[in-house]
Amino acid sequence: MLIDAYDLNVFTPPCEPGGERYSAIARLKVDISAVLPYLNATLRGAVYHQAANALTWKKGGHNIAFHALEIATSNVPDRETAIKELDGLVELVNRTWARRQELTPSYQKRQRPTPMAVYQLLPKTNCKQCGDETCYIFALKLSVGQRRLDDCPPLLAAAYTSQRRQLEEMVIDAPAIG
Ligand code: SF4
Repeated sequence: MLIDAYDLNVFTPPCEPGGERYSAIARLKVDISAVLPYLNATLRGAVYHQAANALTWKKGGHNIAFHALEIATSNVPDRETAIKELDGLVELVNRTWARRQELTPSYQKRQRPTPMAVYQLLPKTNCKQCGDETCYIFALKLSVGQRRLDDCPPLLAAAYTSQRRQLEEMVIDAPAIG
């Protein structure tokens, strides 16, 4: 186990004094820098900044940031939820660290594709099979890791093989957990 304890800090972001949503930070007692390339290899939509030793990720409605000695999450309603969220992230780090010999670390800094770039490769039929009203809404969600390519059934058709390959490279759909 890499992380076995942390100190919790729950606060209102400076841009929202008095707001009803909070940010929370787990201050760690161990340096988790070494696990960041493994998280980068496995978390859909993660953005790794090797020079800054930081990895950011969106999960649900939360902006997550992993640094050497802290894990931060945004948009939590209360302290109990913050603890639950951060416990889940600590478990993710520990699980990824335990699996590191099965994984290939990635030091690549990925850029998130723009929604329009994604949209241009979708079928553009607005068929709603993905659960979204339009292909553009799907593109918006896919570009930030809130949808998977597999959520668009028409993309599996042979006619879209080329577009699907391009999308796979663009949104890094292959390696994902969580
Ligand atoms: S399933 Fe695919 S083609 Fe249909 S609306 Fe969603 S993104 Fe567009």
